[in-house]
Amino acid sequence: MISTEGTLLGKSLEELTYWVQQQGQPAYRGKQLHQWLYQKGARSLEEIHVFPKVWRKKLSNYPVGRSTINYRIISPDATRKYLLSLDDGLIIEAVGIPTTKRLTVCVSSQVGCPIACDFCATGKGGYDRNLKAHEIVDQVLTVQEDFQRRVSHVVFMGMGEPLLNFEAVISAVRILNQDMRIGQRSLTISTVGLPQKIIRFANYNLQVTFAVSLHASNQTLREKLIPSAIHYPIKQLLEDCQKYVEITKRRVTFEYILLEGVNDLPEHAIELSNHLRGFQSHVNLIPYNPIKEANYQRPNQRNTQTFMKILQQHKVTVSVRYSRGLKANAACGQLQSSRLFLN
Ligand code: SAH
Repeated sequence: MISTEGTLLGKSLEELTYWVQQQGQPAYRGKQLHQWLYQKGARSLEEIHVFPKVWRKKLSNYPVGRSTINYRIISPDATRKYLLSLDDGLIIEAVGIPTTKRLTVCVSSQVGCPIACDFCATGKGGYDRNLKAHEIVDQVLTVQEDFQRRVSHVVFMGMGEPLLNFEAVISAVRILNQDMRIGQRSLTISTVGLPQKIIRFANYNLQVTFAVSLHASNQTLREKLIPSAIHYPIKQLLEDCQKYVEITKRRVTFEYILLEGVNDLPEHAIELSNHLRGFQSHVNLIPYNPIKEANYQRPNQRNTQTFMKILQQHKVTVSVRYSRGLKANAACGQLQSSRLFLN
């Protein structure tokens, strides 16, 4: 169905072509508009100088769908955190993480987060609403523009739970892939895991990296850390992940935050290995990034290494991910809807 409603950003080439034609313009202007929105990152129609002047003037206030940068913090490791103002005045965070070969953007999928994991700053700040697909894509364009460099990777690991905003996240993946030409394999969706949603997601058969925030080796522990886990037994969650592998023929990444003395003991590593033996998966250990609203500690390197070694001994593929952007509060779990920040 061709939609003429809403902002220009988020529309496909076909929809943009239809839109320009409705405005009495020739079809090829649709292609130009598409290129200016998704490649050049146009913020208004007025700046698209290949368009006739009179038409541009007439449309100068037409909603394109871009946010404005409210604040930017640059961490000593070159990671940049942005506070972006949306149309309705709400603020979200996005993070740009550069390396020599890559520019990764960590995008938010919701304003705040209703899941409220005990170790995560986002949930502590409450929840406002889902983001629209174009508001997700806008974050990528904003980082691209600020770094003056093409974004190569996008991770849905900012504020929010992507699978609670299912349709918009799927649309954003399509737009990033088809309109912005970022390979699906360079996109990562990270989820806490919700009943029925993993299978539903699997059935889209996307080529994206799928990451599940496991964080605990048994149900009791998981429920303590993630309140919503009460509705989703770990056994069922892992079965659904197995089905994901069968349906998509792609492995699952399990994220496991390491909290000193809570879930990082050798017995937890053994328990986790027992769940994952023979599973086509990869474990990403994330040493806890401190937040002021919680009282956890990050384990020392030795304990982290021991945990990793136990998994390896059980033939579980594992790596440790030290988050970047720590100094700018831009690391995993440190993003918070920044009404607080601005006060
Ligand atoms: N809602 C999604 C995306 C969250 S952010 C999810 O749950 O996967 C991405 C990752 O950062 C998740 O694995 C999340 O659990 C983790 N995280 C949250 N708070 C953290 C913290 N304080 N330190 C390290 N990782 C954290």
